[in-house]
Parts: sequence; structure tokens; C-alpha cells
Amino acid sequence: MKILRTIAETRLELRTQPARGSRLGLVPTMGALHQGHLSLIQAAHQKCDVIVASVFVNPTQFGPNEDFAKYPRSFERDCELLQGERVDFVFAPSAEEMYPQENTTWVEVKGLTDRLCGKSRPGHFRGVATVVAKLFHILEPDIAFFGQKDAAQAAIICRMTRDLNFPVQIEVCPIVREPDGLAMSSRNAYLTPQQRKSAPVLYRSLMQAKELFDRGERDSAKLIAAAKKEISAEPSVQLDYFEIVNPDTLETCAMVDRQVLVAVAALVGTTRLIDNILLEA
Ligand code: AMP
Repeated sequence: MKILRTIAETRLELRTQPARGSRLGLVPTMGALHQGHLSLIQAAHQKCDVIVASVFVNPTQFGPNEDFAKYPRSFERDCELLQGERVDFVFAPSAEEMYPQENTTWVEVKGLTDRLCGKSRPGHFRGVATVVAKLFHILEPDIAFFGQKDAAQAAIICRMTRDLNFPVQIEVCPIVREPDGLAMSSRNAYLTPQQRKSAPVLYRSLMQAKELFDRGERDSAKLIAAAKKEISAEPSVQLDYFEIVNPDTLETCAMVDRQVLVAVAALVGTTRLIDNILLEA
């Protein structure tokens, strides 16, 4: 496994790689890896011959009062895990390498970047779309793998890829959870033992909505009300949003009469966690 730090050496290395017909898979991450990330690499092995994982805590997707400085970083351990998963290359540039001067060119997916987490994290999805566009240009993958955990991000990347004609296939992989249902996340490391006990309420709230849905309820307002009630039973958890939306456009759905994304975001103590499920009408 080779660690690539600069864009120039990465281009050189990857350009000499592909034997004709070999497929390059990209798994973008911000490091602090867990089984959720590793599941993307395992999915990449199913479809690709050469695998690049990127490890880059992207400053442009963090707001001024967010956790960029304290975001968990564990590069050595990440590399051990990636090596264990037979990754070929790790692209781990510095912030200066990715953004050598103030960035003035942005990718904004109008209509989508200000929905769900985009509402409470202005500029977040613009930073995400921009860095993923840069990764696509630098690494030129055939297939890129993203997690359903960040459902809005996946929708935005799919739309960007289509709108800007990136020659990349996007694969969205299922959410990997802890045994008690909590979606794996690098930010779970922030939780105190008490908060860790409260955090699965996000998943339980989604299950509450699903249970009602399975019993025939199709009115989104009723599903949302039941889910919110579940969350309000945990006083240490502050709801940001609980929404039922079209998974492609992220527009609100008043009724569940098609496939919908049921998405939740909440603060557990000071840690912002997100989760979601898909419901099939
Ligand atoms: P991050 O390092 O948090 O930016 O995540 C990198 C990629 O891993 C993104 O595509 C995420 O959606 C995906 N990911 C994060 N957590 C999970 C999870 N629990 N299950 C599946 N994919 C995940």
C-alpha cells in the first residue's frame, strides 16, 4: 500500500497504473476509520481492481464554529486498517496541497445543498461537493463509493456527477450500525458513556416511523410526530430535524406514496449525529 501526499505524484502513479480494462475504485473518507468506512472498501473490491482510499479532513465543509480542529485524527491506525483491507493507495494530502490559496471556485448543487443538514450547516454541502469534484479530477476513478449514512451527501454527489458529466459511477452502500442500532460514525468517539447510551434513540425514532408505516400509515406528519415523541423522551438529545423527503431531490414528501428518505439529525450533548432509513411505498 502506497501513501500519496501530493497531487503531482498521485497523477503520475495512477496514470502508470491501469492495465487496460482495470477499474479504479475511490473511497473518500475523513479518516478516524470504522467498520462503516471499511464496508465501502469491501464493496469496492467487488467491482474494482485497484482501490484508492482518500483520508482528508476537508476544512471547507466545516463551519467556523464546528469541530474541524478537534475532528478525530488517527492516520497511523487508519493506514493499518486500510492495509488490512488490501487498499492499494492512500491519498492523504495536506490542506495546503488541496487548497494552496484561498478557494474561489465552488460547486454548488442548487436546491439540494441547502436542504436537510445544509439548513443548519450553511456551506457544508458546498464544501463537500467541491472537495469531491477535486478528488474526481485528481484521481479519475471509474467508480466512487459513498455511504447511505450521509444520504443527502450521496444525493448531492449523484446530481453533481450527472450535471458536470464526471465519467464516474457512483455506488451508495448500506449503513453499518452498532449492535444497538446506532449508526457508526467517527463522531461517536466524542460521546460520553452516558451520551452513548442515549444516542441509539435516533435509530429508535426511525424505527418508530417505520413501524407505523408498516401498519399502513402513509401521512408523513403522523410518522414524524411519532418519531419526535420517541426523541423527546431523551432529554439529553436535542432534535435538529426529522424529515421525510424525496431521496433524489431532498424535497419534502407530505405522503409516503413513493420511495422516501426518512432522515434525522440531533445533538447528543454537543455532538451532532445523523441517521436515516429508506421506506418503500
Ligand atoms: P466520513 O469519513 O465521515 O466523511 O465518511 C466517509 C464515507 O463513509 C462517506 O461516504 C460516509 O457516508 C461513509 N460512512 C460513514 N459512516 C458510515 C456507516 N456507518 N455506514 C456506511 N457508510 C458510512
